[in-house]
Amino acid sequence: MNIGIRLNQDDFFYDLHSLVKSFFPDDDVSIYTDDDAGKAVLPRDLEILVEVPAYLPDERKAVKDGLKRELYRLLGDYTGKELPWGMLSGIRPTRIPMKLLAEGSTEEVCVRHLMEEAFVSEKKAHLAVEIASRERRILEHVPLGRKEYSLYVHVPFCPSICLYCTFSSSPIGLWKKKADAYLDALILEMERRYAGMLQEGRSPGPVSVYIGGGTPTSLSVEQLERLLAAIGRIWDLGSTLEYTVEAGRPDSFSEEKLMVLRRHGVNRISVNPQTMNDETLRIIGRQHSAEDTLRAYEMARRAGFENINMDMILGLPGEGAEEVRRTLAVIEALAPDSLTVHSLAVKRASRLKQNILEDREQDEGADRGVFRGYSLENSPEMMDLAEEAARRMGMAPYYLYRQKNMRGNLENTGFARPGRECLYNILIMEELQSIAAFGAAASTKEVYEDGRIERSIAAKDVNLYIQRIHNSFD
Ligand code: SF4
Repeated sequence: MNIGIRLNQDDFFYDLHSLVKSFFPDDDVSIYTDDDAGKAVLPRDLEILVEVPAYLPDERKAVKDGLKRELYRLLGDYTGKELPWGMLSGIRPTRIPMKLLAEGSTEEVCVRHLMEEAFVSEKKAHLAVEIASRERRILEHVPLGRKEYSLYVHVPFCPSICLYCTFSSSPIGLWKKKADAYLDALILEMERRYAGMLQEGRSPGPVSVYIGGGTPTSLSVEQLERLLAAIGRIWDLGSTLEYTVEAGRPDSFSEEKLMVLRRHGVNRISVNPQTMNDETLRIIGRQHSAEDTLRAYEMARRAGFENINMDMILGLPGEGAEEVRRTLAVIEALAPDSLTVHSLAVKRASRLKQNILEDREQDEGADRGVFRGYSLENSPEMMDLAEEAARRMGMAPYYLYRQKNMRGNLENTGFARPGRECLYNILIMEELQSIAAFGAAASTKEVYEDGRIERSIAAKDVNLYIQRIHNSFD
């Protein structure tokens, strides 16, 4: 379908567009004003007219919520659908109960608020409130003052690029030589900016460290040693509560690399299968098998890691409940310490989205929610299977976020055994602490005491990043 949203003025574009897209994920949705002549005269299968009333600046939120409520009811009647997260878009679902709980509301009041004000389903409302309560309990023991921060270091290389990837990552095979130049720039940036942070009165050590990407373990043993040694030399990690390396891809593991991580105090890693079905792994462009994941996991346990996370994705090409059950059965047998369940997001910049668009160019009538004949299906039932498996492993949900264009309009949820929750994930989601981020595409976030947040993002392109760092600090 070709759907238009026509407004009387240029306002609330993002929120209204996201809400309509949630009802029609695979359709073309355009938003425009009466004055936008080109778009306003195009023929549409469905055109929604929205009248934005005049309002004072402090009425903006109420007006926006009112419009979204009306639109949600209208589209609900039209499609016969109810969305699991109701009209929530552009906000992390846990934010609302976090705020209400901080103001003294009970959990029951928070659940009712989400259901009545935002049309969130009862199940998802309970999930959001359970997570918010748990986050609050975990954060009670974490220093959150202005001088505190967490550290993020980006390694933009992977063994191969996954079909759905939109992270800033390049295949290490092609960038082997550049990786050393990248580390030179990254270490220079960390040294120089750290000196500046100390002058500003920031703490000499981060609350948590997260090395992500990309796949940091795509670096060679020597490169990994160099990076971790530099982090340990620059920062005081004596009081750091958590040190994560997103090892991620089983095809990047070796015993020597794991020993480098252990030697430098890394106490949490991820071994991310995404799926335990070899055919799906091939389709999504991974160069490892399910068997490799088992080997990597065992290797990590043998190396002494006591906090191992596994990531899985629901909605991968061709996977339904049966495939999800199979993946969960293998994960349960391994018994990791945490499980992060993602809903596949089909993002514009991914190869997956490009391929879907190409399919449509070749065949006008092609099903828009399908990739090369494979379904891309996620459902509340599949999410339930994952949640039930996590709870059977003694885990509880502890963080949650949503992205645009997620299959089934669902969510990503992190489950963990008590005490094995990833603090960095909570801090970054709830935006309660500054993140000092280093490397290409890394996003530094300054959180001020009055709640103000400033962000700055480094150059995504690795060559440009290297050049800029040398221009700024040499
Ligand atoms: S492992 Fe992650 S970062 Fe690397 S290509 Fe796949 S999705 Fe992208």
